[in-house]
Parts: sequence; C-alpha cells; structure tokens
Amino acid sequence: MAEVLVYVDHVDGAVRKPTLELLTLARRIGEPVAVHLGAGADTAAATLAEYGAVKVLAADAAEFADYLVVPKVDALEAAYNAVSPAAVLLPSSAEGKEIAARLAVRIGSGIITDAVDLEAGDEGPVATQSVFAASYSTKSRVTKGTPVITVKPNSAAPEAAPAAGTVEQLAVSFGEKSTGTKVVSRTPRESTGRPDLTEAAIVVSGGRGVNGAENFAIVEALADSLGAAVGASRAAVDAGWYPHTNQVGQTGKSVSPQLYIAAGISGAIQHRAGMQTSKTIVAINKDAEAPIFELVDYGVVGDLFEVVPQLTEEVKARKG
Ligand SMILES: Cc1cc2nc3c(=O)[nH]c(=O)nc-3n(C[C@H](O)[C@H](O)[C@H](O)COP(=O)(O)OP(=O)(O)OC[C@H]3O[C@@H](n4cnc5c(N)ncnc54)[C@H](O)[C@@H]3O)c2cc1C
Repeated sequence: MAEVLVYVDHVDGAVRKPTLELLTLARRIGEPVAVHLGAGADTAAATLAEYGAVKVLAADAAEFADYLVVPKVDALEAAYNAVSPAAVLLPSSAEGKEIAARLAVRIGSGIITDAVDLEAGDEGPVATQSVFAASYSTKSRVTKGTPVITVKPNSAAPEAAPAAGTVEQLAVSFGEKSTGTKVVSRTPRESTGRPDLTEAAIVVSGGRGVNGAENFAIVEALADSLGAAVGASRAAVDAGWYPHTNQVGQTGKSVSPQLYIAAGISGAIQHRAGMQTSKTIVAINKDAEAPIFELVDYGVVGDLFEVVPQLTEEVKARKG
C-alpha cells in the first residue's frame, strides 16, 4: 500500500488533535508515515502509532526552533525523497500552509489547501473544499506530481487504529537559505485555559448583541461549561469588547467545530464565511428575522441575557 506522509503538529512531543485527524484521513488513501520534527519524537510516537502511523520519521535540530519554516521544508523534502509517498498531508495552519506551498514548489507538485474532507480516487486522492463563503463544496485532485494537501482542523473525527509507529531517524541537511530568517524572541501568549479557537470541538461566539466587554463573561461562562473556545463577531471585536484574535469570519479565523453557538450575532455573510462548515449550528437572537436563522440547526428566539445563563446552568446541572 502506498505511504502517505503526515506532518506532525506538536508541542514538545504532545501531538495536537489536527494531526490525529490527518492520520485518520491518511488511512483512507494509504499507510500513514508521520514526520516529527523537533524534540519529543519518542513521546509522540506512542500517540502517532495509536492513530495509525506505521512509521515515525524523526529529526531533531536546533534549526527547527531557531529559524522560520524553511528548515522544516528541508526536512519534509528529505522525508519525501526517502519515502516517495502517494500524498503529503499537513494541517491548515498558517505555518502548515506555508510549509506545504514551499514543498510543492520544490517537488514540482500541485497543492490543495483548506480541504475539509479527503477520499481515495482512481487517479489519486480527492479533496473537498468549502468555497465562496462556504456556499459551495468543490471536489478536486492534484494532476501534477505528488499531491500536497492541507486539511482544516475538525474535518474528521480522530479514530484510533493501532499500528507499529516505529521511530526512524531522518537525515536532514540544511541549505544556506534555510537559516536566512532567525527567530529573535518569543513571547508566550497568556493562556485562557480554553482550547484554541480553530481547533476547538465547540465554539461559543458573541456578537453586537452582547452589548459590552463586561457582558462577554456570560459567553465565557457558557463556553467554560462546555469546554469550548470563545469567538466573536467583527462588530464585537471592533467595539473593543473582545480581542481581534478571537474574531470569526472572512477576515478573522475560520472555524469548523462539531458545535457552534452564536449569541447576539445577525449572521452577515462575512461572519458565515468563517463558521458555516460547523457541524451543528445553534443561534440565540432576539430577532426572529435575523439571517443567522437561515443556516442554523437549532434556533432560540430570545434575549441572550436570559437564554445564555439558563443554558449554562442546564449544562452544568446535566454534567453533575
Ligand atoms: C470586508 C469585510 C470583512 C468582514 N469580515 C468579518 C468577519 O471576519 N467576521 C464578522 O463577524 N464580520 C465581518 N464583517 C462585518 C459583517 O459584515 C457584520 O457587520 C458583522 O458580522 C456584524 O456583527 P454582529 O452580527 O455581531 O452585529 P449585528 O449585525 O449588529 O447583529 C447583532 C445581532 O444581535 C441581536 N441582538 C441584539 N441584542 C440581543 C439580545 N439581547 N439577545 C439576543 N440577540 C440580540 C440582534 O437582533 C442582531 O441580529 C466584515 C465586513 C466587511 C465589509
């Protein structure tokens, strides 16, 4: 069976969920071979094996942390040359997409970004993308070279399928150009304790209807009761009620969680562009005519200041 390279997104060997989703999707088109760069390959290998990696190609070098993406492209290219895979899969993060694009140029391949599904096809893997503010789904496949495909987080539910996960060292040599852009400092982001917005399985977002920064506490309380991330519409963000990093939409983050709850958000096309592929959508809005109700699975016509706290209490009560 053809091998499929899966680029591992991790923090010191703690594998992040989008990689488990990639391994799950990779198994539809071949045998996953994980590429782990940086420290922690031995820790990561157990998880990668559990989700179907037959092999883990590991390389650790200071270059991966000290310079921007090019050393990682060098390593992935080395893995590509070692394996001759049927496809290369990466997460659709900003870094994942940059690595993918550079690799595709180097190996003379076509690239598909932001896939939301992947299936085997007679002439190579077929990727589904959600386009035009998620109003259309397209299916496409790469017709030149080895497909390089980035997949959006939450596109598949990770399924365990234990495999060998044998760790092999990957020899990588870095070119002069690899070390052209050095990382000179790092400032850790203050942790909210909530999941990352783009990776969260549940997102609770607030809009202009929340009516003030201090009122976002009720959105956060619902999010915390569900273990969710907090999002916001641009109107809420522009008003200074919530950080720009939490904006969902065309000019913010794209999210595709299992559950998206929108409170006090009208459902403008630019907001929908960032959340329309969510699996289940719930809206709370006091205007029964609000456009958001056109795309919801469940809608509550009501005042969010009454509905959201009740929902939070109900979730807490049911969790015991
Ligand atoms: C180029 C461009 C890019 C953009 N990018 C984005 C983007 O990335 N993300 C984004 O979100 N927007 C984006 N916008 C802005 C977008 O067009 C809308 O203006 C914005 O999404 C509106 O935010 P909102 O739904 O919170 O506010 P509004 O449209 O004002 O809606 C507020 C809603 O809250 C309801 N409400 C009020 N009070 C309550 C209450 N007490 N209880 C329940 N419901 C209540 C109202 O009925 C209303 O439906 C962009 C616009 C442009 C032009």
